[in-house]
Amino acid sequence: MTPSDARPMTASSLADVVDVLAGHRLAALTGAGVSTDSGIPDYRGPDSPQRTPMTFQQFVGDAAFRRHYWARNHVGWRHVNRTLPNAGHRALAALEDRGVVTGVITQNVDLLHEAAGSRNVVDLHGRYDRVLCLGCGRVIPRAELADRLDALNPGFVEQVQQVGDVEIAPDADAVIEQTAHFVVADCAACGGMLKPDIVYFGETVPRARVEQAFALVDAADALLVAGSSLSVQSGLRFVRHAAQRGMPVVVVNRGATRGDRYAAVTLDAGTSETLSDLAETLPAPPHRTAAH
Ligand SMILES: [Zn+2]
Repeated sequence: MTPSDARPMTASSLADVVDVLAGHRLAALTGAGVSTDSGIPDYRGPDSPQRTPMTFQQFVGDAAFRRHYWARNHVGWRHVNRTLPNAGHRALAALEDRGVVTGVITQNVDLLHEAAGSRNVVDLHGRYDRVLCLGCGRVIPRAELADRLDALNPGFVEQVQQVGDVEIAPDADAVIEQTAHFVVADCAACGGMLKPDIVYFGETVPRARVEQAFALVDAADALLVAGSSLSVQSGLRFVRHAAQRGMPVVVVNRGATRGDRYAAVTLDAGTSETLSDLAETLPAPPHRTAAH
């Protein structure tokens, strides 16, 4: 059965998912829905408030915007730094241990797959714990920048935490009103503009990383999408690619996704429960004897 002759089934059961995936080596593609049970809100989820994402052009083009961004991020990143992987992350790591999952492509920047023990992970949209200089390309740990921002803005974090009005967003920013006097740090090496090592709207994913992700899909024989509405092209292209190669695609997500039309099965469900069930149910795939 290939996706082209399979009719997408909506509101399928876990048994349908198992039927499609059993015996296959799976590439996993994950999004914000996988991390909601770790306390990181999914701003694209069905129950989420509308929120306009920041664009790369806003960030580089507007000093006031950038100051506001860094002030929020300076508080928010500590929250992400303290979050823990949930049952869904652990299930994918367990499936990789057993040879069912060959690797994870994630649109999340929270590093929770790595924290759960997944080894073959492509952080498609970057990682919250690194900062990139747009001038010289130098990458520094976010913790190093935190020390510098603390020195430039003594008492800022404590002040904000007293207000107690910190909304945490997936890209590690937190909504704060009084950021007008926040002092932003530039690159210590070249004085260039620093940006979180995260791919924003209006940016493209670095080519080498995209190729790494395609290779991960090509090394598998089915694609499991978990917790993503696939609303951005950077993730959707892997679903299209898998479908074009005749690989079965399964989508587990709360709410409809842009990838549903490519899926053999879609399951409207939470990822923590579903991935845990799959970790218990899916058999290890047979050793590959020939190319298919
Ligand atoms: Zn620099």
